[in-house]
Amino acid sequence: MAWKINQSVWTNPLYIAPGNPGTAQLGINVPLDIADFNAIAGFCINEKIEMVVVGPEEPLVNGICDFFKNNEELKHIYFVGPSKHGALLEGSKAFAKEFMMRHNIPTAAYREFTSENYEEGVKYLQDHSIPIVLKADGLAAGKGVVICYNHVEAIAEFELMIQQSKFGDASKKVVVEEFLEGIELSVFALTDGKHYVLLPEAKDYKRIGVGDTGLNTGGMGAVSPVPFATPGFMHKVEERVVKPTINGLHKENIDYKGFVFFGLISVNGDPYVIEYNCRMGDPETEVVIPRLENDIVGLFVAAFNGELDKVTVRVDERSAVTVMAVSKGYPLAYEKGLAIHGLDEKFGKESLLFHAGTKEKDGSVVTNGGRVLCITSYGDNIEEAVNTSLDMLSYIHYDGMYYRNDIGYEFIKKIESEG
Ligand code: AMP
Repeated sequence: MAWKINQSVWTNPLYIAPGNPGTAQLGINVPLDIADFNAIAGFCINEKIEMVVVGPEEPLVNGICDFFKNNEELKHIYFVGPSKHGALLEGSKAFAKEFMMRHNIPTAAYREFTSENYEEGVKYLQDHSIPIVLKADGLAAGKGVVICYNHVEAIAEFELMIQQSKFGDASKKVVVEEFLEGIELSVFALTDGKHYVLLPEAKDYKRIGVGDTGLNTGGMGAVSPVPFATPGFMHKVEERVVKPTINGLHKENIDYKGFVFFGLISVNGDPYVIEYNCRMGDPETEVVIPRLENDIVGLFVAAFNGELDKVTVRVDERSAVTVMAVSKGYPLAYEKGLAIHGLDEKFGKESLLFHAGTKEKDGSVVTNGGRVLCITSYGDNIEEAVNTSLDMLSYIHYDGMYYRNDIGYEFIKKIESEG
């Protein structure tokens, strides 16, 4: 996001809070605690900030948009991100499900349970077909969804969530949902609360292992465009999901100027919503934003002013693929502070290096997280783009560096073996 905002003719200067050594090359990192709204307010007033773009969900769910709107000294600032009410689309799975029910948006059948109707929940699980999906209602750092493949596991997990507060207050309420079988797709809109523009779609790869095996991660790579997102399928997505969502927000008077992420699953060619996010998702952003040709600050101004109906999104026709390099052991325990070599390589104009879990130590860059960095490359097709990213990653090194070499594998034509 900082990479894109930095390209705008209107950006001068760009501050990133808290940022990392990658964003330091695009603007000025400021060591602000993004949970501390007063500190952010003070900074914005002192530096005469004109636009604020919120990246992560937590400050949005905690009401940073309302905080800005209700403050005389801040309310003129172009603010990109929904109100606390709007952010409930991500902040409460139950709110999102009820919203979808009210607006007839296709989603998996479900029930909600708390300690009040716990016994009924156990009975519901016992009678339900397997697999079944349990979702903590609130934010749980991306870990609140558990897919259970037998009844014993489902009931044990249900007990952990509700009775043992496995995810704290977030799992006081649990959404129990039918399991949908299909291919997943991420769709992104920017909305002003009434109109919207669609950004390029993407598909991410969540499992740690090659061939989509092993534990779930924050994302090991992503591709855009997604070959099965044909114009016919995307038409269904817009008519059945995107329009009813934006119209629903408008009808319910929910203040929403920002991104909506639609986590979809295609079941026999029909889209169903698995989740909403109230911001851009990672690592999809690293392929969606590089394909966007518009000045993004121009889009943000139009969103703030309620003028997205006057905007046309232009998209780079090329494919973009990002491959994420992670720490040895991730998503379980991993070491930090390992020196990263090869970052000064010239990656060519087809490739972009984005930092994730990195930090500066004594003038050099070291690992500082499970997901360390990624390389996005453009190509005439997914295969070409992924090969370029893999090539570029071979110049970078740190102890225990691991990445998947099969991102986009379902979309790469296999060469028929002869004989
Ligand atoms: P969420 O945090 O809601 O994105 O869920 C995490 C992952 O769980 C999703 O990306 C899906 O792979 C999976 N998932 C969630 N809900 C369902 C469902 N109803 N059916 C099948 N898979 C699901």
